[in-house]
Amino acid sequence: MRSENFISPKRFSHIYVERSAENHPKTSEILSKFPESSVVSIDSYKEVFNPSAQNFQAQKRSPKLILAERKDQFLYSGSGIAPDFGYRHFYYNALVLNCLYNCSYCYLQGMYSSANVVVFVNNGDYFRETDERLKLSKPLYLCISYDTDLLALESILGYCKEWIEFARSRPDLIVELRTKSANFKSIASLKPAPNVILAWTLSPESVIKEHEPLTPRLASRLKNVKQALEAGWQVRLCLDPILNVPDWKTIYREFVGDVFREIPGDKLREISLGVFRMNSEYFKNSKKRRSNSYLYYLPMETRSSVKSYPEELEKEMFSVVEKELESFVPKEKIHRLIANETV
Ligand code: SF4
Repeated sequence: MRSENFISPKRFSHIYVERSAENHPKTSEILSKFPESSVVSIDSYKEVFNPSAQNFQAQKRSPKLILAERKDQFLYSGSGIAPDFGYRHFYYNALVLNCLYNCSYCYLQGMYSSANVVVFVNNGDYFRETDERLKLSKPLYLCISYDTDLLALESILGYCKEWIEFARSRPDLIVELRTKSANFKSIASLKPAPNVILAWTLSPESVIKEHEPLTPRLASRLKNVKQALEAGWQVRLCLDPILNVPDWKTIYREFVGDVFREIPGDKLREISLGVFRMNSEYFKNSKKRRSNSYLYYLPMETRSSVKSYPEELEKEMFSVVEKELESFVPKEKIHRLIANETV
């Protein structure tokens, strides 16, 4: 079922709760939204999440929720593995492991053995560590929605609101909130924060249908982008990953036209472009779990332990899409993300 915004109270048949997280107010808040779920106490999220002999795709059909307390690693250095947009101090965090969507090219299926969703309830510790890091590294660029889609989960977690308010009083912190959701309305009542970037990942509608099951349609995402721009938010568009689908040139050219029929290009903060790429270890695991997806059988090259399309094709994909974009957006706002710099 395609999920626009709503998360049904019946979404999780079981919710596992770490004993150390049982008395946390966020745990009670989340559990109150799923009155029909069976709650199971566990010692550590790792006993449910980490075992290797799990069937990722079977779990995707009915993922369980795991509420846990993060003990360490509240920040990861992003240097060299993901787009830093020129910020020297680039970090990301993992408030949630896994995502409600199920894109065929998603690296999470190669990174984790489980499709269950882990939520760390102690957001206050993430804030504390971020403040500590800010004392040493300014400006600090922090991505808070990497190994998940945080805005898609906003109706049950409320973390986006908490981080927007946290960032508002810390001008040296630049927060990126990346999403494929159409859930802007869950934060629409907030005053825009100039140091929070709402980043929507967009794909052609035919790619969404085939490779991004469960995510909102392009039209819904564009409507959200438009609303966010009109409200005065900083918005980044991520055309990423560009996929080698049959007739990709026509599909992506038309897609750029579809986007800018709706979106005023001059209002965007920037656009980032990336061609399909994945850490080669995650690629190997993902291929096993997606043996029915042709995406994993296309010609690839490995550069610096990253799988991507052959360099010539990668260059051609960038230049075709960039050429199309330049009719709508100033060239200096378009950023290429190169394969061996990213996961
Ligand atoms: S939205 Fe992103 S994180 Fe979620 S399944 Fe798709 S690629 Fe993975």
